[in-house]
Amino acid sequence: MSPEVHQPGDPGSSDSVPLSVPVVGEAERRYVLEALDSGFVSSVGPFVSEFERRFADYVGVRHAVACSSGTAAIHVALRLLGVGHGAEVFCSDFTFIGSANPIAYQGADVVLVDAEPSTWNLDPSLLAHEFERRTAAGEPLPAAVEAVHVLGHPADMVAITEICSRFGVPVFEDAAESLGARWSEGSLAGRHTGTVSTVGCFSFNGNKIATTGGGGMIVTDDDDLAQRARHLTTQAKIPDVGYLHDEVGYNYRLTNLAAALGLAQLEQLDEFLAAKARIAKRYDAAFADLPVILPPRAPGTLPTFWLYSLLTESQGRDELLDHLKAAGIGARALWRPLHQQPPFIHSRLLGGSVGVDLFARGVSLPCSVTLTDRDQERVIEAVHAFFD
Ligand SMILES: *Cc1c(COP(=O)(O)O)cnc(C)c1O
Repeated sequence: MSPEVHQPGDPGSSDSVPLSVPVVGEAERRYVLEALDSGFVSSVGPFVSEFERRFADYVGVRHAVACSSGTAAIHVALRLLGVGHGAEVFCSDFTFIGSANPIAYQGADVVLVDAEPSTWNLDPSLLAHEFERRTAAGEPLPAAVEAVHVLGHPADMVAITEICSRFGVPVFEDAAESLGARWSEGSLAGRHTGTVSTVGCFSFNGNKIATTGGGGMIVTDDDDLAQRARHLTTQAKIPDVGYLHDEVGYNYRLTNLAAALGLAQLEQLDEFLAAKARIAKRYDAAFADLPVILPPRAPGTLPTFWLYSLLTESQGRDELLDHLKAAGIGARALWRPLHQQPPFIHSRLLGGSVGVDLFARGVSLPCSVTLTDRDQERVIEAVHAFFD
């Protein structure tokens, strides 16, 4: 089987420089074998609690609750914020569909908010404008705002938080792609993405910076919300009472086997982040003179460049992708915005042209943490050859 990582729907690939592959080394093997040998393979076990504890420490929160996927974490976050049938949730338009599907699971309505060009994340000015307009017109405000940190770049949480608290709308974060991303200046200096609002969600899918094969995490500083997250992810079972379940819950717990893998990954996360930063710096320098737009680096942020992506200046994305494919290089287009996806085509949309443009021009380049200098040089040469 190919070790490459595919998004659902991607065809298999035989690229000689893959887009992004996970690192599975000695530590992973040792911990997974330890979990197997212990007999605790399912969702109770020492690796789950250890992974949760170490993850909470790493991002700087009181509680982390492991789940079976990032999508599950977002679904539970919506339940924690009381989002139910007929409610409305504002969400980034330019993101992976896993951000928005859980809103639909809850029977709630998605309102899609376009990206800002400076971070490629939810544009706070569209949010402010819409909240002001609704307030003036006497229309209700949404039940929640979901801010996504795409591609490892922090969203403008200072502005988003200010607007939402001014209007009394709860915010939560989809930090599935931004584990390790932080702010370096201002009121959020030192804080990790996913820890700024009441609830944050992370993913450990195979293509994320740290993987458990499949998994996710809910983080919060609120003791009651953490307790409730644990309850909802374990079928809402009342402990120590024979099969008593006080509401509809989910089978969303992470397994001990997966947590063993996750713990090994977490111990190497700083190295993974350093590798991503090194790769991004090298690409940035190599492409500075080309007719492309480099990935965002907003002042005061420490993005991770989880998936290094640039924009072709006008057209030419497909030609560039074809050219790289022919050279055996695993490049990929960015996401089609959610307002163009069949499940959300009828959702309300604020703005929309920035996401369309990012999709039309964006290309992600190989950036596995194990990418060798030689392979990166091959990618750089192939990109240069295209523009020559
Ligand atoms: C990966 C991802 C998710 C979903 O996480 P899974 O673990 O794959 O369920 C949600 N939102 C974003 C932005 C993602 O990239």
